Amino acid sequence: MPEYKFKLVDKAEQTNEETILAKLEENSETTYKLYAVTLDGEEKTVLASLEEAEKIVDEMTEKYEDDLELDIGIVDVITTDKEDESTVKVATATLDSDIENKIEEIEEEIALQQEIQSHTVQGVYLEVTPVSGIITSRFGNRESIRSYGHTGLDIAAPAGTPIRAAAGGTVTFSGYSGGYGYVVKMDNGNGVETYYGHCSALYVSTGEEVEAGDVIAAVGSTGNSTGNHLHFEVRVDGEEVNPQNYLYNE
Ligand SMILES: [Zn+2]
Repeated sequence: MPEYKFKLVDKAEQTNEETILAKLEENSETTYKLYAVTLDGEEKTVLASLEEAEKIVDEMTEKYEDDLELDIGIVDVITTDKEDESTVKVATATLDSDIENKIEEIEEEIALQQEIQSHTVQGVYLEVTPVSGIITSRFGNRESIRSYGHTGLDIAAPAGTPIRAAAGGTVTFSGYSGGYGYVVKMDNGNGVETYYGHCSALYVSTGEEVEAGDVIAAVGSTGNSTGNHLHFEVRVDGEEVNPQNYLYNE
């Protein structure tokens, strides 16, 4: 914003619109408001308009709905052309941005991240499907019952159906826990944990050692549940991951 000051000048000091404009340009800097698409909080690409950024996010969210474990978001970026050269380049490139290229950039990044993830979890060894039944809600699903993405996999089965341990390990919790209802939580080693929620009965106790395939609980509808099903959750290093990367991957 220009500032105005009252000033007395010499008659000889002639001014006109052109010289004023030239002076203004000389002393001003252009500020760009850009929109960065982020993956897990990290800026990956910048766009000139919010519409373009939203288009990318919508497209990615739809395409990777079920198996993307990264958060896609948008953040505002304010930048000026007087900053370092790289910013100027970004800003200029963005003003005539080719949205298809940006989408490709993000897709490549997602593919890379998924590759990294699949390598990171190679040590996860789950061998037994806890129950057989119909999958009624996949990992990451958003439904009216909850405001966040689904943290596990729901498999519908009649009440009382035996639930088997997906892998051997130690029971770290067996009891009632909020939305999970009656739940068995297991430590399966290598940073891997499995949760079995909404049970009607629990057959193991905290601290017990369990082998893969052992019956540990029975299907029910306790906790935040609207019907008999198993909520099967897999965590690697404390983060929920898609159980279908390991089991039920038809
Ligand atoms: Zn669930």
